[in-house]
Amino acid sequence: MGKSNKLQYLNKGVVSNEVEVLKKMFEYAPVYVCLLEGPDHRLKYMNKIFRQLYGGVDLPEGTPAEKILSEFKGAGEKEINERMQLLDSIYNSGEAFIANEFQSFFGYRGENESEEAFFNLICQPMKDEKEETYGLFITGYEVTEHVRARQEKAYSKERLTLAIEGADIGFWETDLKRGELDYTNEQCKVHFGYSPGDEFTRDDFYNAIHPEDRPAVKEKAQDAMENAGNFKVEYRVQHSDGSLRWILARGQTLTDSDGQPYRFIGITLDITESKEAEKKLKEAVRIRDDFLAIASHELQTPITSVRTLSELLELKLKKDGEQEYAGQAAKINKGINQLSKFIANLLDFSRIQEGKLQLEKSDLILNDLIKDTVESIQPISDHDVIIEAVDNISVHVDEFRIGQVITNLVNNAIKYSPESEKIIVRAKEKEDQVIVSVVDFGIGVSEHERETIFQRFYKGNQPHKKTYPGFGIGLFISSQIVQQHGGDIWVEDNNGKGSEFKFSLPKND
Ligand code: ADP
Repeated sequence: MGKSNKLQYLNKGVVSNEVEVLKKMFEYAPVYVCLLEGPDHRLKYMNKIFRQLYGGVDLPEGTPAEKILSEFKGAGEKEINERMQLLDSIYNSGEAFIANEFQSFFGYRGENESEEAFFNLICQPMKDEKEETYGLFITGYEVTEHVRARQEKAYSKERLTLAIEGADIGFWETDLKRGELDYTNEQCKVHFGYSPGDEFTRDDFYNAIHPEDRPAVKEKAQDAMENAGNFKVEYRVQHSDGSLRWILARGQTLTDSDGQPYRFIGITLDITESKEAEKKLKEAVRIRDDFLAIASHELQTPITSVRTLSELLELKLKKDGEQEYAGQAAKINKGINQLSKFIANLLDFSRIQEGKLQLEKSDLILNDLIKDTVESIQPISDHDVIIEAVDNISVHVDEFRIGQVITNLVNNAIKYSPESEKIIVRAKEKEDQVIVSVVDFGIGVSEHERETIFQRFYKGNQPHKKTYPGFGIGLFISSQIVQQHGGDIWVEDNNGKGSEFKFSLPKND
């Protein structure tokens, strides 16, 4: 039968009616349907879903497949040829073509950029009564989202594996129903002194842990498994060559929809190096603190005698009319005073570090203490230190130590406000507290430094550091003293014109 006869048969015969019935059935079917006829695969019919894929354009009947394909966005010559060859081979062989997740290279959906899509499809040759193929019946549905989700899952797993391996992370999984370790990656075995290919059971895991650490690890793991909780523990592992390694393990229990724990999964990390670094650092800090304690203690006595002697010397020189030498002796005295203050600070620092800062508390009137302190600073300062709005407040404090805090804050206020002339000291009752504040009009403290300046040895980021000498321990000592009194210390901005240091103390009942 020639081509025209086949078409006649299709258009006029019983089959033609069937096609009409099929068209109606297929028009709103949830799958795409396309009928092509003839060896050059001319369009006979496409249903609504297929038209949507194609961008909603209603192509005229008789359009050849090559033209249909070329209208798709992104369809290059190579892809069109491949598809045409496929259609030809199905047509010529008479064999149905079934494909799952068949990749389309063509763009679709109207104006969108061309993008990859996947279909599950069947291309079935249509045959006449003589079993000769006269057309192709193509039907299928899109599975792009399903494919993407699976690909994404695979990528995530791959990324996770890469991250885990790249960071030398061990990974383990325990099946809680069987109570067995049923997966450990190679790195995990290495962490426990095993080789990658070795068998590694739950008993091997517990046996490798240092006997002193084992009970704690067991208890924490048991707790996490029973209560569906998190697990975090550091322990030592004894390798067969006798070496000891530190391991950090973290884990989590997974529960089913009924809340029943069914898997316990987690990671291991070898933290031996950081543990050793931490130990060395602690040792270095201990040596430093010991040195400071010994040095400040040993220096205190000779400095006190030198100070007494040089003060006597200054007096004597003045009395003898040796003004020039007396002036030089005064400079020596100033230096020695600074040195002895510094040594006193170091001693306090050491006492704080060792938890040996003892307070000798008594009841006193806070304004008297403020007045005495300010009076001792005023003669040696060019600033005007004004006491303002001080309530008559009774407190139960260590007079010397709280005096030291006020001195520190006022001296800092003077030091960090060289361009201004005024410092204000206030004390007010607020509920069950007393708030003392020292206000200056100087360089101020930037917002991001307001917490850190109270840390030991913290020197601010002033642009001209040399202008403001110091060791960064005054505020640390002050904060420790205040905290030991049950109070708090902080700094606020003085309306953009300097800073306001405040500390609180519990009020005396
Ligand atoms: P030091 O003054 O010896 O550096 P402190 O512990 O007394 O040490 O102060 C820590 C830091 O806090 C200082 O280096 C400075 O940056 C900042 N600071 C303290 N008081 C003031 C103030 N009144 N105004 C501005 N900055 C201050």
